[in-house]
Amino acid sequence: MESILVLTHADETGSAPTKASLEAVTAGQELAAQLGAPLTIGIVAAQPQHLSKGLPSARVLAVSGDAFAQPRYSTDAAACEALVRAAQPTIVLAPHSARFSRVMAGVAHRLGGFIDTHITALASTNSNIEATRWFYRQRVEAVLTRESRPWFLLLDPGTHEVFSGQAASANIEQIAVELPTSRTTVTGLRAPQQGTQTIRPDAKLLFVAGAGWTKKQPDGQIHIEAAASLILGFLNASGASLGSSKSLVDQGSEGNSVLPFLTHLNQVGQTGATPRHPKGLSTCCHGEEPHVVGWRFIAERRAISLDPNCGWTRGKADVVYIADAFQVIAKLNELLESKKA
Ligand SMILES: Cc1cc2nc3c(=O)[nH]c(=O)nc-3n(C[C@H](O)[C@H](O)[C@H](O)COP(=O)(O)OP(=O)(O)OC[C@H]3O[C@@H](n4cnc5c(N)ncnc54)[C@H](O)[C@@H]3O)c2cc1C
Repeated sequence: MESILVLTHADETGSAPTKASLEAVTAGQELAAQLGAPLTIGIVAAQPQHLSKGLPSARVLAVSGDAFAQPRYSTDAAACEALVRAAQPTIVLAPHSARFSRVMAGVAHRLGGFIDTHITALASTNSNIEATRWFYRQRVEAVLTRESRPWFLLLDPGTHEVFSGQAASANIEQIAVELPTSRTTVTGLRAPQQGTQTIRPDAKLLFVAGAGWTKKQPDGQIHIEAAASLILGFLNASGASLGSSKSLVDQGSEGNSVLPFLTHLNQVGQTGATPRHPKGLSTCCHGEEPHVVGWRFIAERRAISLDPNCGWTRGKADVVYIADAFQVIAKLNELLESKKA
């Protein structure tokens, strides 16, 4: 019989589970219900009692102590290993977060298990567990089954609902961890000098800026400063996350005048990211296949382009506005500001 362990960890505040952890809890609860399997939840946090509120009825195991306040390979791997050994599950679900994705393959190896990553959906048919993931930059969808146990599955964030069901009062079982000698001391956090945090995975809207923002406009001039202020104005007013085409972010390395808040981390597409947002708005971007393949998980797509023959109009967007994005975004910002006031 299968048994399921969902591993979770705290967010930067240390006082709440991450959103992706609560999505994994939903996935675990659904799978346990389908299989009639017992569900255990494991918590990695300095003070797990803060995280246990709001969890569903399940056995809850936790490691605790200052060693787990920050992500660190040696301590996180030891914590996950101890939780899995204590729970003895056949299936381990965990969020595909930066913190867990770097340790989980090692943990699976220590336990003689098998791991699959970037899982987007789980199902059980004829008591077989099926895990879905995408290959070849989201072009091919595969359904995997495995006989090996324990089977570790890292779930992509944004693929399940955040657990918000009826919370049970959890009785936490503390699991002792034998900590390895640590060579790593976390002394603080340093973020890249970007001025503005533009990548917001939890935003409802992805706003994509294409190279058109830096091209000559109908008046024969380029308008970088106006472009920067319109884009930042829209991000501030809407709370959208900022994506970019490759052509636009590449301009920085080609020595041209660019939008200073954009880096390759913003790039969406075949050689960029595949973010998940309910809606997307593309501006000044041609909608070529290597870019649009990164929109696989954007549910509703709209684009503003001057070119009526752009890729978006060829079935890649739900709505295309053939219009000047400078004018449209200026008007949108005006409307958003007046709504706020
Ligand atoms: C192996 C490989 C991998 C690649 N990977 C990626 C990837 O990961 N991501 C990616 O994005 N690309 C990728 N590309 C590049 C991709 O093919 C395109 O070259 C790129 O996406 C084009 O960027 P763009 O649409 O912003 O620029 P352009 O093609 O220059 O299009 C600019 C658009 O802006 C419009 N425009 C200009 N002014 C305005 C205005 N005022 N209002 C409205 N519209 C306006 C123009 O009409 C034009 O359609 C890859 C290519 C290859 C070969």
